[in-house]
Parts: sequence; structure tokens; C-alpha cells
Amino acid sequence: MANVRLENITRRYHTTLAIEEINFEVPDGEFWVLVGPSGCGKSTILRTIAGLETATSGNVYIDNTLVNEIPARKRDVAMVFQNYALYPHLSVAENLAFGLKMRGVDPTKTQEIIQKVAQSLSIEHLLNRKPKQLSGGQQQRVALGRAIAREPKVFLLDEPLSNLDAQLRDDTRAELKQLHQRLGITTIYVTHDQVEAMTLADKLVILHQGKIQQIGDPQRVYSRP
Ligand code: ADP
Ligand code: ADP
Repeated sequence: MANVRLENITRRYHTTLAIEEINFEVPDGEFWVLVGPSGCGKSTILRTIAGLETATSGNVYIDNTLVNEIPARKRDVAMVFQNYALYPHLSVAENLAFGLKMRGVDPTKTQEIIQKVAQSLSIEHLLNRKPKQLSGGQQQRVALGRAIAREPKVFLLDEPLSNLDAQLRDDTRAELKQLHQRLGITTIYVTHDQVEAMTLADKLVILHQGKIQQIGDPQRVYSRP
């Protein structure tokens, strides 16, 4: 687990100012939600923390270490996107194992982790299937599982439920919350959905046109007139 701190992060694309002077610190183990309309800069912030994007200026710290120069694969961060991006030719078990294999975890230990992760997401019965034999909700569970299996210090989720239908979205949201309560991984979650924001967040960061409008507890933020 680790804290995540952004210090004066600005990202410019040519003439577009995607995010401007972003400052916040997510303490160890908390679940923070970045919320705001499309184009307000949520993904850019997440991608900058992940190392998929370089800030024009400012500093990113993970676990109190400056990571500006550290590439994504070495940041100990796992990111899940709205379109799951599973490897289509690999089975569910192989998808779950992918990050572990890359890190040289031995096969016995890998099997143990896969079983544990599959259990916690109720996908044990799907381990031998290929992604295209799964429903959208099941695929997204596998994507979450693949991210968790690496035991990252930080979990970054970019609208992970937005491709699911309403019922599945509610179920998966509840599961995500339980998963966080169980594992306590520092999590930053992006959404434009107020219900998701309200039910998941320890703390909300409200963004507007690339700037932070407000940071607060979900009840306070949404009860304002
Ligand atoms: P989201 O729906 O999550 O906001 P977008 O569809 O806006 O995502 O963006 C998807 C991808 O396209 C991202 O990698 C983002 O960096 C890139 N992108 C977004 N806006 C632009 C743009 N104006 N020009 C070029 N690439 C963009
Ligand atoms: P959100 O995730 O809140 O929808 P983004 O972070 O995707 O917002 O985008 C913030 C702003 O930056 C938007 O105006 C978007 O068009 C712009 N943008 C994002 N990625 C790119 C890119 N690769 N090239 C140019 N503009 C981009």
C-alpha cells in the first residue's frame, strides 16, 4: 500500500490545457473518486499517475517517492480501463497470470494467487474459458482480477463499470467496494456517475475544465445547495 501525491500537475496538449495545477494527496489505503463531465481531465490525471502520460510540469509521488522519471511498468500501479482489454487468445487463468509471469513469480505461487483472486471475484468456474466466451461483467471481473493479482501498491480505475448494463453495474460496484474493504489497496477511481461516486468514495475530487473545483466527503459535497 502507498500514498499518492500530486504536486502542481499541469498537462498541455499543444494549445489544449487538459489539467492545470492539480494538487492532492490520497492517504494510504483510501478510496478516492475523481468526478466531473467528459473532457474535464479525469483520465489525464489517472494516466499521469500510472506513467502512461508525462506531465508538462509538476511532480507525482507514490509511496513518498518521486516517480516522474520512473516508467509505468516499474511504478507498482495497476490500471483498469472501461474496455477491459483482456488478451483474447489467452484463457482467463492465463490472463490472470500474465503480470505475475512477467515478474518472474514461480508457477506454484502463481497458481495459488490465481485461485485466491478467482475466488474473491467469483470467477473460479471460468478459469479455462477464453474472454470471448464471457459476458461483459465477467470480462470486467477478470480485468480487475488481473490487476489485483500483481498486488500493486496503487489501483487506478478509469470508468470500469461504464460498459456494463445497469444491474451488472450495481452488482460489480458493490463487489468492488467489498474488495477494497478486504484488501485496502489505495484506489483512485474515475467516473462521471454520481451514484458510483457517492457509494464508493472516501473522498471526492470534483473537476471542472481541468481544475479542481472541490475536494470533500461525498455526503457534504452532494448535499450542498
Ligand atoms: P474518455 O471517454 O475516457 O474521456 P476519450 O474518448 O476522451 O476517453 O479519450 C480516449 C483516448 O483518446 C485517450 O487516450 C485520450 O488521451 C485520447 N484523446 C482524448 N481527447 C483527445 C484529443 N482531443 N486529441 C487526441 N487524443 C485525444
Ligand atoms: P476526461 O477523462 O475527464 O473525459 P480527459 O483527461 O480525457 O478528460 O481530457 C481532458 C482534455 O484534454 C480534453 O479537452 C481532451 O480533449 C484533451 N486531451 C486528452 N488527451 C489528449 C490527447 N492525447 N491529445 C490532445 N488532447 C487531449
